[in-house]
Amino acid sequence: MVFETKFYDILGVTPDCSAEKLKKAYRKMALKYHPDKNPNEGEKFKQISMAYEVLSDPEKKAIYDEGGEAAIKQGGTGGADVFHSPMDIFHMFFNGGFSTRKCERRSGNLIHTLSVSLEDLYNGTKRKLALQKNVICESCEGVGGKRGASHKCAPCRGTGVITKVQKTAPGMVHQYEEPCRTCRGLGETIDDKDRCKECSGRKTVRVRKLLEVNIKKGMVDEQRIVLQGEGNQEPNCRPGDIVLVLDEKEHPVFKRNGTDLFLNLQLQLSEALCGFQKVIPTLDGRNILIQSHPGEVIKHLSTKCVIGEGMPLSSIPSEKGRLLIQFVVVFPNSLPVELVSVIREHLPSPPAPIIPEDCEDVQMLDYTIDQYQNAFRDDDTNDEAGCHSGFTFDHRPNKERVHVKACNTS
Ligand SMILES: [Zn+2]
Ligand SMILES: [Zn+2]
Repeated sequence: MVFETKFYDILGVTPDCSAEKLKKAYRKMALKYHPDKNPNEGEKFKQISMAYEVLSDPEKKAIYDEGGEAAIKQGGTGGADVFHSPMDIFHMFFNGGFSTRKCERRSGNLIHTLSVSLEDLYNGTKRKLALQKNVICESCEGVGGKRGASHKCAPCRGTGVITKVQKTAPGMVHQYEEPCRTCRGLGETIDDKDRCKECSGRKTVRVRKLLEVNIKKGMVDEQRIVLQGEGNQEPNCRPGDIVLVLDEKEHPVFKRNGTDLFLNLQLQLSEALCGFQKVIPTLDGRNILIQSHPGEVIKHLSTKCVIGEGMPLSSIPSEKGRLLIQFVVVFPNSLPVELVSVIREHLPSPPAPIIPEDCEDVQMLDYTIDQYQNAFRDDDTNDEAGCHSGFTFDHRPNKERVHVKACNTS
């Protein structure tokens, strides 16, 4: 039991979700609501970041689960100051480390998500992207104003950070650092009159840049494409990278599993018994013909595969994985009575039933889940549905059978 589920709800997960699932939820939402993409959703981005920061940290999560948001904010962890900014969390998540304004001689990466179709990943494609980024101001060559006009920032004494002290309890203080607002963490300022008109002393200007991205055959969902040095520029820093995270859209026909493609194919009972031919349009616009062997019977939920009609291998794009076809046989609801005996004659005959003399007649109804639940409702000694005297009834679809049984490639 948790005190409240607000943070879980923000990320769309349940309190018992795995760390992996939590990460995935944050990744999807953070990319979606990042200010680069969604400038009007700043508050939402902040909430997502806060929720993730708390739930990804076992200590903070425990405090939250016990006392909710109020407990977190009231310094169960030493005060809200221990929290990082939404951007820091974002960069930590995607770059694997906190980036601080104390320039590590490297500017921040720009991360974007790139939605791609299964066709794109099958055939490979090129995408044009328009991105906003900071580049060194040409007018002042990244100085920010007249040469020699900059001087040490007074409030931070040129360090770029301000040390703050917060009382957490009587006699207890917590000390932390914040980027200096006067110089934006740069450690130096320029007087108004000396400032570059082009960049207002910021040393960089925002520009729109067009980029071409090469999506190669066989790339996978969540794969990262790194455009080195195409990210934000900052004086005295190595420019950051642009990182594109692929987001594979669901396909209406094919499901992908690594290099395998998976397809559900409906067959009428007559096709399953007497043979069939089917044309399957491929992801690169070809048509392939599949057919059964003469006399072959295709069983319901059986799977066959076609070698070389799956997804291209990213290492060897000319080679492809398998196409797995699972057959769903559509049975007729009834048969003309006069036909039954004819059909029976041609099908393997079952052993005749041995019916004891005292055998009782019962009526068999069509089964629905509702009936199943009703049938056991009057048992008041046991409220756990489905655990009656060893009688278990699994009405989940039979997933196990989805796997390939044999490769018919002859
Ligand atoms: Zn300038
Ligand atoms: Zn300063």
